[in-house]
Amino acid sequence: MSSFIDELNEAQKAPVLHKDGPLMVIAGAGSGKTRVLTYRIAHLMAQGVDSFNILSLTFTNKAAREMKARISNIVGASEAKNLWMGTFHSVFAKLLRIDGNKLGYPANFTIYDTQDSQRLIASIIKEMGLDKDIYKYKQIQNRISSFKNSLITVKAYRNDPDLVEQDAMAKKPRTGDIYENYVDRCFKAGAMDFDDLLLRTNELLTRYPDVLMKYQDRFRYILVDEYQDTNHSQYLIVKALADRFQNICVVGDDAQSIYSFRGANISNILNFQKDYDNVGMYRLEQNYRSTRNIVNAANSVIGKNQNQIEKVVWTANDDGAVIKIHRSPTDAEEGRFVANSIWEHRMQEQMGNGEFAVLYRTNSQSRAIEDALRKRDIPYRIYGGLSFYQRKEIKDVLSYLRLVINPKDEEALKRVINFPARGIGGTTLDKLVVAANHYNRSIFEVMENIDRIDLKINSGTKRKLQDFVTMIKSFQVMNETTDAFALSELVTKKTGILLEFKKDGTPEGIGKMENIEELLNGIKDFVEGQKEIDGATGNIAEFLEDVALATDLDKDTGDDDRVALMTIHLAKGLEFPYVYIVGMEEDLFPSGMSMSTRSELEEERRLFYVALTRAEKQAYLTYTQNRYRWGKLIDAEPSRFLEEIDEKYVENLTPVDGGYRYKSLINPDIFGEVDKSRLRQDKPVRGTPPIIGQPNSNQLKKLRKIRPQLAEPVGNTHTIDPNLVAGSLVNHTRFGRGKVVKIEGAGNDRKAEIMFDKGDIKKLLLRFAKLEVI
Ligand code: ATP
Ligand code: MG
Repeated sequence: MSSFIDELNEAQKAPVLHKDGPLMVIAGAGSGKTRVLTYRIAHLMAQGVDSFNILSLTFTNKAAREMKARISNIVGASEAKNLWMGTFHSVFAKLLRIDGNKLGYPANFTIYDTQDSQRLIASIIKEMGLDKDIYKYKQIQNRISSFKNSLITVKAYRNDPDLVEQDAMAKKPRTGDIYENYVDRCFKAGAMDFDDLLLRTNELLTRYPDVLMKYQDRFRYILVDEYQDTNHSQYLIVKALADRFQNICVVGDDAQSIYSFRGANISNILNFQKDYDNVGMYRLEQNYRSTRNIVNAANSVIGKNQNQIEKVVWTANDDGAVIKIHRSPTDAEEGRFVANSIWEHRMQEQMGNGEFAVLYRTNSQSRAIEDALRKRDIPYRIYGGLSFYQRKEIKDVLSYLRLVINPKDEEALKRVINFPARGIGGTTLDKLVVAANHYNRSIFEVMENIDRIDLKINSGTKRKLQDFVTMIKSFQVMNETTDAFALSELVTKKTGILLEFKKDGTPEGIGKMENIEELLNGIKDFVEGQKEIDGATGNIAEFLEDVALATDLDKDTGDDDRVALMTIHLAKGLEFPYVYIVGMEEDLFPSGMSMSTRSELEEERRLFYVALTRAEKQAYLTYTQNRYRWGKLIDAEPSRFLEEIDEKYVENLTPVDGGYRYKSLINPDIFGEVDKSRLRQDKPVRGTPPIIGQPNSNQLKKLRKIRPQLAEPVGNTHTIDPNLVAGSLVNHTRFGRGKVVKIEGAGNDRKAEIMFDKGDIKKLLLRFAKLEVI
């Protein structure tokens, strides 16, 4: 038997070595499910199964890459090359590029992201003359998405009196018409939204038995991670593909099912044994990830759920520290507590920033944490929220590139037809949209034929439209002979986008230029990488596909050492030595919107279980007494989940008198004496605690180890004190003396807002600012 099998315990070996046929592994967090999946693939290949015949579906593309790397290590990179591995969306987008033409889609179809879908729905609502306060585009988008994930087509919707009735009752009787329009418009634009990638795959596999046979034959072994969170559409695809050979291996944990709001269906796990014959059922019980305190605490919480498959999770790891609970007066204090605690751990245990994660229930909670981390100069990275590729300037550039590949792409066209401004106004665009609908063509096609149709557009504007068409076509010609990088560089120049931001001249404009530069660098890296892959060319179509389907975690290159900030939903499957779960308050977590039924509350509890089980060494749970919600300061109540943890495994850090823990905040060994007057209970510290006097040589040595930059003397050079905080006094070569009002952004984006003695307030990018700290 190959030696890598010995890196598994006995319970893990069994599913890895399971012969052909269906099998399911249901086991608690950290017990090695993902490891089993990875090793099973390696084992299959070691047994002679061709990697071409293996399909593996993961929660993120990053997870897929990591698994592939591990497999390459075991069986060799060339062997692993043909593995199809990735998220449902990326795998089936690939399949649709090959066979989607049968459904009438071009191979170069555009993938609309949620923002594109929402914009399109908003414009359809407007075109239809509906009240946008009743037909809220985000809600409608959500509803359409849920139809698609349940495979309810427009026709099926119209034939379902219950659904029609629901929308009528909600005073939105035209929902079906919006849905129909939306589907038409996407199709005409040669575009699929995220849900289409699954819906159309289902359609393809149902309507074309030859296509189904082809992929059944190809994917003789199918493996699915996080099976508890597959939705109906995904379930049907897997079922269809696995139907012939029945070599299907799914792993999951019902206790970690947290996506029911997006249509994930726990019954996919419960019915697995009914769907297939002779299912091999496996359980794993030993957790390798976390300390015993964390494992036991998590067990005590999830035990409160009624609906669950009986499971045992234990660990042979050390007890470790108990879970620490901390209360703060406000969210700003909460952020400060987290930042200080990270700072302390980093110092005391020589930890890198990347070993810490701060998890929250909703994205909006990140702001207070960010503020505090910035003040402490702790680098962090936010996952989720607005990603790099969704920033306006980046999407603008990408929209031009999308048009090169697919000029029918309506959303891309609408974004950039008049950006940078070229005198094509909203009225003209409206006329184009009307004509496109009328002739059942794309807007671009209408523009190509603008001379032949009478739209009451004056000749000057007509020429501008034609110039635009010519420009895009010239890019297309160029695209035939060049790679993604050269083309993108040309596009940013020829369209005038770069110039637009350069002219702007404000720090924001410079920031945008830098982002475009970063995009170009990214494209360059991508092109280099692609050139090493067989069959890939590094062209713009490949790049756009990569961008469209990158989940936010995928952009984590892993080479920068930052604290991770993300929602609990995104943290699924991940692990960190230190985890802070913030906002442990009623109405926030559990969410106020998810407490009306037992099943909703149980999903929130599972979410808490997922959060807690991400921690390897230490978990912190924090809550506040007051929090701004919906613009009002409200009294917050501790989350019920705090009480649900068996008290054996927790310690409350909050002093009874409600004061804060400043005692261990500053290590006098390192900082010298501290100005205690600023550490009064009622006046929390702002920014980094001030240092009085110079550190001695011993302290300096320690400092250098922890933070080399801080230990260097701040001279009168143009370097910036890394410790620049609100309140710092600075001197600028041109603007003179000033005081820092606030610091924002991080890394290359770090900016200071400075009030200069001469009276003006300026925002300066610290990378460039010629500042001296005084
Ligand atoms: P989750 O439910 O959170 O997705 P999981 O069940 O998929 O967790 P893994 O991520 O596969 O668990 O494993 C958790 C950690 O334990 C990983 O760091 C993994 O490398 C380690 N691990 C799993 N099995 C073993 C083993 N037999 N020996 C050593 N380490 C192991
Ligand atoms: Mg896993």
